[in-house]
Amino acid sequence: MKGSSWQIEQSCPQCGAPITLAETDHILECPFCRTRLYLVPNGHFSYYLPPSPSMESKGELLYIPYWRFRGSSFTATLSGLSNRFVDTNTVALKTPGLQHSLGLRPQTLKLHFVAAETKGRFIKPELSLEQALPGLNNTNREVFHHAFIGEAVSLIYSPVVLHGKSFYDGILGRPLSSPGADFAETLPSLNDAPKTGIKFVPTLCPYCGWEMEGDKKSLVMICKNCDSAWKPGGQTFEQVETAAIMPPQADENTAYLPFWRMKPKFDGMDLTSYADLIRIANLPKAATADTKKAPLHFWSPAFKVNPPLYLRLCRQMTVFRPYEYESEALPKNLFYQANLPLEEARDGIIMNLAQMIADKKRLYPRLRELSVSVEEYRLEYHPFFNEGRELIHPGMGVAINKTALSMGGEL
Ligand SMILES: [Zn+2]
Ligand SMILES: [Zn+2]
Repeated sequence: MKGSSWQIEQSCPQCGAPITLAETDHILECPFCRTRLYLVPNGHFSYYLPPSPSMESKGELLYIPYWRFRGSSFTATLSGLSNRFVDTNTVALKTPGLQHSLGLRPQTLKLHFVAAETKGRFIKPELSLEQALPGLNNTNREVFHHAFIGEAVSLIYSPVVLHGKSFYDGILGRPLSSPGADFAETLPSLNDAPKTGIKFVPTLCPYCGWEMEGDKKSLVMICKNCDSAWKPGGQTFEQVETAAIMPPQADENTAYLPFWRMKPKFDGMDLTSYADLIRIANLPKAATADTKKAPLHFWSPAFKVNPPLYLRLCRQMTVFRPYEYESEALPKNLFYQANLPLEEARDGIIMNLAQMIADKKRLYPRLRELSVSVEEYRLEYHPFFNEGRELIHPGMGVAINKTALSMGGEL
């Protein structure tokens, strides 16, 4: 899961000090004035590569959009599930002749957030992410389902300078042989500047005003004063229902890991109760009257781990259904940050179902038409006992190698 980690330069909105952020950071922490602000993008994070100062005055400054994708891609075929790691970027315009990819530039230059005051014409993407990266939109007949988890999706704008009828690279200054001179005229919505910018939200509890806890990559902030949890929603924070599983054997060495528990609503398959899942997955359990009444819940780690472990944890939790020793209060012990958003957990539900389906020949073709929404969800903290290099879930016996956690944290 190693790969390029991009850096963003941003001055502190409070004191103006220069700060370098990692692409995965959701919190800006100023080491000078100690301000902590949550970064809320309007849609995807949008960055630009600054032009060289000598080029800025050479002509009209335009920015070409590129889609950036980094994450795990999963596919379901009759021979099973496969996954691969994708780390790529590609131009978001149809115009032929443009540089197809940014190459190594984002690794060697610092990115900046696109803001309302950023000078230059920002060209609106013509292609959606799926259109720009055809490899992601797999139309192979053998593939029944496709999902992406743990992804960084953003737009990167790269500068070009139009001087007379010629284009120049806005960073290196060398002339661009293509696109043709009529490029500027043929571009759609050339005048649209999608400078939506980014909003900085104070990391204070919206309920009691206490400073919330969370590391830079956290997607859920915790208020330990009023025991509440919050995730970004729109341009502010919205409360997240939480629960913790606290068995009597838990002690101060117990680590708590976050999981999304979701109540899915499937459209395209008769799957509403636990009994339905027992049947479809051919689980070694009897479909009793109780299981027919039991709600169907799907779990997903709320933290990033490698794809095989992600799939294993999804399946083990969903089959085991850990409901015992439930507490509304959050554990006082160290707990691991939630850095996998609910939306990605939802996108993994059908993949989790696919790996459990027993009769693949009969049911896999139906995955193509299957869609899922989440009716209810909550963030659950599950206890894991510290056993040397591993964390072990006491009820399920599920083991997680500790290095797998730090690895996921880098994504
Ligand atoms: Zn500051
Ligand atoms: Zn609070």
